[in-house]
Amino acid sequence: MTDTTAIETDTSERAVDTLDHWVGGASWAGDSDRTAPVYDPARGVVQRRVRLASAADVDAAVSDARTAAESWRDASIAKRQGVMFAFRELVNARREELAAILTSEHGKVTSDALGEIARGIEVVELACGMATITKGAYSENVSTGVDVYSLRQPLGVVAIISPFNFPAMVPLWFFPVAIAAGNAVVLKPSEKDPSAANWLAAVMKEAGLPDGVLNVVHGDKEAVDALLEHPDVRAVSFVGSTPIAKYIFETASAHGKRVQALGGAKNHMLVLPDADLDLAADAAVNAGFGSAGERCMAISVVLAVDSIADRFIEKVSERMATLRTGDGTRGCDMGPLITGVHRDKVAGYIDIAAADGADVVRDGRDAPFDGDPDGFWLGPTLIDRMPTTSAAYRDEIFGPVLSVVRVSGYEDALAIINGSPYGNGTAIFTNDGGAARRFQREVQVGMIGINVPIPVPVAYHSFGGWKDSLFGASKAYGEHGFDFFTQEKAVTSRWLDPSHGGLNLGFPQHE
Ligand code: NAD
Repeated sequence: MTDTTAIETDTSERAVDTLDHWVGGASWAGDSDRTAPVYDPARGVVQRRVRLASAADVDAAVSDARTAAESWRDASIAKRQGVMFAFRELVNARREELAAILTSEHGKVTSDALGEIARGIEVVELACGMATITKGAYSENVSTGVDVYSLRQPLGVVAIISPFNFPAMVPLWFFPVAIAAGNAVVLKPSEKDPSAANWLAAVMKEAGLPDGVLNVVHGDKEAVDALLEHPDVRAVSFVGSTPIAKYIFETASAHGKRVQALGGAKNHMLVLPDADLDLAADAAVNAGFGSAGERCMAISVVLAVDSIADRFIEKVSERMATLRTGDGTRGCDMGPLITGVHRDKVAGYIDIAAADGADVVRDGRDAPFDGDPDGFWLGPTLIDRMPTTSAAYRDEIFGPVLSVVRVSGYEDALAIINGSPYGNGTAIFTNDGGAARRFQREVQVGMIGINVPIPVPVAYHSFGGWKDSLFGASKAYGEHGFDFFTQEKAVTSRWLDPSHGGLNLGFPQHE
């Protein structure tokens, strides 16, 4: 969970625009006069403000969504898929425009922003094929003259609450599936980088989506609580830190809603002695420092078997020396962190690790950066001999800090991974098929990479972790996504046949 103190300490006097909500197919200011700053993290300045909705604003948005849901559920499959196809084409054609928004508010470098958009578009493509996934089943003549079939119908209004680190991709994990399935959506994106959500909603309108089917309400806890408690919100999809995910799951469940709440992570990468160490070092650097480590599937801990640990660390360190941290538009490898408060918190973990006896091999606080001196910079950091008792090991740091824990072998490493409260992603690097197969069976984690460092499943599988990385039974997108956003009906039918008349109070049996 990122610290929100930045919001309270902003005293900027500069005149900046305020981003409105998007409700009923248009920008909407709502009634609340509360706002929050949106930073340009590469410059360390407030570049705009964003409205923070009141409970009454949320109620107005849900009411619009409810009206829209009543007619959208009757739109034909052809119409719903048609909107998704058009949306896919528009986003694809304008992905540079969206990438610029992501870089400007999140800070991630342009190539990474384009990667985020590409992975989001995959889910739109999945939604283009919703007819196949939701078509149900038909059993003819289950009893003489009787057929049984199943239907999938939308829920109505659903809420999506998303984190700062993927301002486009995470909303795209959910709303294309929810809308293709016939629901109306209220999306509450992160208040730290909110503009991508408005951009996506405006493009959905351009693609032919009727007004009110996709709404964006900006806000903080007040808006989230209003969604969790609103009687007309039928389901909540949440992605964010574990403490908030747990709160969302418990609160929305207590209000009778379907909930899927994806939480935080601490992802381990196991490097066995027979691994290709160059491939493994490339993977550790890419997965540890891409997006400045602000990814829920980032590798934050490498478990290196003692016999190869020194060689592996040397290779990682050599590669880190070539990385350029800086402004996302300048062809750098890694951008700034999201806020100054978060940067300081991440940097603080380097001191914690050192105080707990770890070796700081590369300290990102000393690394050069290519950008404004006021940007929220922290270079890549490598910490060796990290004790598993340190808070720097246990906590989700969510920054460019890669730790190495030395292990005696496979069993030792497996015990460490399975001892973690998180179970989002993990990876094994080895050339031994037997070891990899054992790992995939024995590790208590939802998404596993075998010689693949960031195993985010493609859209036609589903995304989600185990343990404190996912609360609720449904993962994101894929078949899980369509199950989550629809409810099934089973119909048993018999057409009039006089031979079936007569009274029989016994439980129906098949003839
Ligand atoms: P966060 O939990 O601080 O915020 C997520 C959302 O919850 C935001 O929309 C925010 O406005 C809202 N929120 C924050 N505090 C709240 C409160 N007290 N009550 C109600 N709502 C509140 O997370 P973040 O810092 O934006 O994102 C980073 C976190 O998200 C990391 O922990 C990361 O691992 C996690 N994440 C997980 C996945 C996954 O798939 N498991 C994917 C991306 C990010």
